[in-house]
Amino acid sequence: MAPQRDYYQILGVSETATTDEIKKAFRRLAKQHHPDRNPNNPQSAERFKEINEAHDVLSDPEKRKKYDQLRRYGAFAGYGGAGSRPGSGGAPPGAGGAGFDFDLSDLGSFGGLGDLFSSIFGRRGTREEEDADEVIEVTVSIPFKVAALGGKVPITLPMPEVCPTCGGKGAAPGATIKTCPECKGRGTVSFGQGGFAVNRPCPLCRGKGHIPSERCPTCQGTGEVRVEKRLMLTVQSGTEDGTRVRLHGQGAKGKGDVVAIFRVEPDHFFRREGLDVLCTVPINLAQAMLGSRIRVRTLDDRRIVLRVPPGTQDGQRFRIPGQGIEKNGRRGDQFVEVHVQIPEKLTPEQEAAVKAFAEKTGLKY
Ligand SMILES: [Zn+2]
Ligand SMILES: [Zn+2]
Repeated sequence: MAPQRDYYQILGVSETATTDEIKKAFRRLAKQHHPDRNPNNPQSAERFKEINEAHDVLSDPEKRKKYDQLRRYGAFAGYGGAGSRPGSGGAPPGAGGAGFDFDLSDLGSFGGLGDLFSSIFGRRGTREEEDADEVIEVTVSIPFKVAALGGKVPITLPMPEVCPTCGGKGAAPGATIKTCPECKGRGTVSFGQGGFAVNRPCPLCRGKGHIPSERCPTCQGTGEVRVEKRLMLTVQSGTEDGTRVRLHGQGAKGKGDVVAIFRVEPDHFFRREGLDVLCTVPINLAQAMLGSRIRVRTLDDRRIVLRVPPGTQDGQRFRIPGQGIEKNGRRGDQFVEVHVQIPEKLTPEQEAAVKAFAEKTGLKY
């Protein structure tokens, strides 16, 4: 596995290549080393990554300009002819005669170059750092009533966990751990010439400084496996659509966070207005005219008797106090909207009765 090399060299173009030439070279090489065409070939996979990285920087004029600047400091191996490619013998990397080593963190003082380094190398930080930042976001549908009253909702998520076979070390059982030959156990490799050498995490051991004699068969040496993890989400009463809940340390490898975004499913009976809940209940003509007592379902599935007075109009609202949503010590009400149902068909006998009623009350029709 080759450490960071010169991007121009990776793409096989000259440093004066046009963007077009760079793109062409990239397409040709990417095709050749594409993982689909080279299954189970780690060398090609690594090459493919390099090619993409080189293209990513060189095809962007702004990034390329910064990279060229950096390259002039001799920060990359292979620059300047004879080449002190790390690990290829000759001058040991980083031992550039009277040169001096400096760490990536020192680059800030070079005005802007630090940015480039972090954009090039940042994503290759140690795995521990990556995991700490990893947040798994998931959208969870919850029933209307659970959102209103609160409750628990179980979810199952695929998640990276520490490999149980090797405990995250990446080594096969019984394998011996040897010092990484690439970095000689330092965990970093340095390269460059002309008085400068740059340190970066070793790509072979991922900065650990040691590698196993045989890779763990369960995780292929990555130290992690994907598992289906079951989590219990607590839904607060009065949860609204779009509410986010963060579970600290219950995500990737037991360290990352999980953020759940609740989607509240509509209910066929209840609607919501702030802390109040609304429902519509049908009543018949006689109930509307003569008054009645009707039974109404509440959020917590009880039945409450509601008195409908004589002369109730269609669409009239009645309030049942305290039967709404409770949140932060406040409690909403339940509103019942009645819908007066008019008979669609009348028998001749019924029709005669309604006509008689109309005449008695002076209703014209
Ligand atoms: Zn190493
Ligand atoms: Zn493992």
